[in-house]
Amino acid sequence: MQKFIIVGNWKMNKSFQEAEEFFLDLVDVLENKELDNIEVVVCPPAVYLEMATDLAACNPFSIGAQNCSQFDDGAYTGEISASMLHSMEMDYCIIGHSERRQYFGETDESVNAKLKKLHENSIVPIVCIGETLTQREKGVTKDVIVKQLSGAFQDVDVNDNVVIAYEPIWAIGTGKTATPEQAQEIHALIRKWIAENYNEDVAKKIHILYGGSMKPENIDDLLIQPDIDGGLIGGAALDIAKFSSMIETAVRL
Ligand code: PEP
Repeated sequence: MQKFIIVGNWKMNKSFQEAEEFFLDLVDVLENKELDNIEVVVCPPAVYLEMATDLAACNPFSIGAQNCSQFDDGAYTGEISASMLHSMEMDYCIIGHSERRQYFGETDESVNAKLKKLHENSIVPIVCIGETLTQREKGVTKDVIVKQLSGAFQDVDVNDNVVIAYEPIWAIGTGKTATPEQAQEIHALIRKWIAENYNEDVAKKIHILYGGSMKPENIDDLLIQPDIDGGLIGGAALDIAKFSSMIETAVRL
């Protein structure tokens, strides 16, 4: 079995002091832990990335950014390029999160452009996809997922350099989690799509994370599904007690 990847997405939360305190607590939590079957990743706001990568350099966790520009360096006020992230030794970068699609105009095309920039800079993209409640109720979830995959991966060579996060939008920050069966069904579809568009070996190796109100109470049932390889966790990853409890569960499974 491959390692679980447990990713905390802080979104736009925490002061610098709170962020530092969280990371110091995380160092304590991970100390002397057997972490052979799990990779822990935290994605703090961009202004804390330097502090976070400094701490991660000598501790058993990785750091990811929450977004990057689809452009190279240049006149793009407020943006952060993939090459800048590379120069800070970033491991991962989330792209295509539904909040960025909804509030900042992210599209499958821009996700594709960002994915390519991240690959040019040796950073692993965490590509988020997922359907709205209306799409699920209309019965078009699978079509939506396949369209998002086709858009994001257009002309992209995939091996083990990509993570996919299935995040049903109706489950993000709402407290409503997809049932393990609902999540497994879509994860299996994603893996099949990867097998058909790349090959079986890539499909076996690729990490497909679930995201959407994952918390200590439901993480076991989700992680034991055959095609769920970890979690992208928002709200519950802000609290060190909850985040460490979810890490404990993944270590135990
Ligand atoms: C997320 O931010 O990707 C997420 C899944 O959030 P939450 O866990 O709060 O639903």
